[in-house]
Amino acid sequence: MSIDVLIIGAGMIGAACADALAAEGLAVTVIEREAIGSGATAAGMGHLVVMDDNPAELALTAYSLALWRQLVGPDSELHEYRRCGTLWIAADDEELAVAREKQRTLREHGIACELLDAASLYAQEPQLRPGLCGGLRVGADAVVYPPKSAALLLARAQSRGAKLRGGQVSAVIEGGVLLADGSEIHADKVLVANGSASVHLLPELPIRPKKGHIVITDRYPGMINHQLVELGYIKSAHAADGDSVAFNLQPRPTGQLLIGSSRQFDVTDKAVEPAILARMLAHAAGFVPALTGLHALRCWTGLRAASSDGLPLIGPHPSRPNVWLATGHEGLGITTSLATAQLLSAQIADRQTEIPVAPYLPARFKQLGK
Ligand SMILES: Cc1cc2nc3c(=O)[nH]c(=O)nc-3n(C[C@H](O)[C@H](O)[C@H](O)COP(=O)(O)OP(=O)(O)OC[C@H]3O[C@@H](n4cnc5c(N)ncnc54)[C@H](O)[C@@H]3O)c2cc1C
Repeated sequence: MSIDVLIIGAGMIGAACADALAAEGLAVTVIEREAIGSGATAAGMGHLVVMDDNPAELALTAYSLALWRQLVGPDSELHEYRRCGTLWIAADDEELAVAREKQRTLREHGIACELLDAASLYAQEPQLRPGLCGGLRVGADAVVYPPKSAALLLARAQSRGAKLRGGQVSAVIEGGVLLADGSEIHADKVLVANGSASVHLLPELPIRPKKGHIVITDRYPGMINHQLVELGYIKSAHAADGDSVAFNLQPRPTGQLLIGSSRQFDVTDKAVEPAILARMLAHAAGFVPALTGLHALRCWTGLRAASSDGLPLIGPHPSRPNVWLATGHEGLGITTSLATAQLLSAQIADRQTEIPVAPYLPARFKQLGK
């Protein structure tokens, strides 16, 4: 049987794209070298968050969050989806001004959020250290369990006729791909959706790995209510080089806490590094001192695929015929996966996209040719 679209990678992005493309009636095959959702998808926090660093990021995250709400609908437990909201923490007056500005931007886009003074902040999250100034609560943000959502989307794609194959792609060739065992798979289109490893296949991509550490604790139900993020997180996420840590704490539906996060450019060794882990945990305890008394069960790392302008690449490769891209999602690929899949499938099916696609087109990078 001929393949319309061969997708490399069964992470959250490949799975969401497989689902959307199969829904278009296309013959889809997904090829994965390890387990479904075992890359960055399993390593991340699964925070579904509206981000507003620039209009394109806001448009993509807001659109995708709406798609998540439609997807989980009555099946929220299957995805371990919980609408816990995000609480952005302002440590000082300068950060409170940032919270106010964020509130203005989000409200302009119809996203409900409320500014909290210090008293309201502590009423919502009594475990926070004394001396903070306030915060911004974005109630519709949520959390999911990403590897499970990836598996559910891939299963739905398979029920729509998509095929899943095991195998490692070693090169993208004319008319398909070459596998590590020397065999070839032919397809009309190849979609490169293998996250931080996409540069191994297409070295011209403007993508660098950004390593992150996460810790998970034992169960402490009710200790924290929201996904807590320091407003200083934005500085860490934007750093163009070097190592950084930021406070990011997530209550899982099980009562466990996920503690993040760190960012290290160009580190591909996935080993846990005690020095940066200690720095990250000390920073987190600076916001929630009680963390120091909890049992940590496990820690791990993952590699984000960071594009040079912070936005993902969604669309045709400008100089490689029939090669398509859905990569470069950095620390937002779970949030933006469903919007990515819709923007990608609409382009392939030659339909109008729901939001303007220009900011995410790979052709914005001159180095990709044409
Ligand atoms: C520490 C950390 C925290 C994060 N927190 C969040 C968060 O809270 N919210 C959020 O929205 N995002 C978060 N992210 C980002 C998010 O996890 C990623 O953007 C997303 O998982 C990317 O999905 P992907 O499918 O592109 O890549 P991956 O999940 O890495 O999937 C790529 C797949 O391709 C396969 N593959 C690779 N090369 C080949 C090959 N040559 N042949 C065959 N198969 C191949 C891999 O095995 C893998 O399964 C976080 C990431 C990290 C690391």
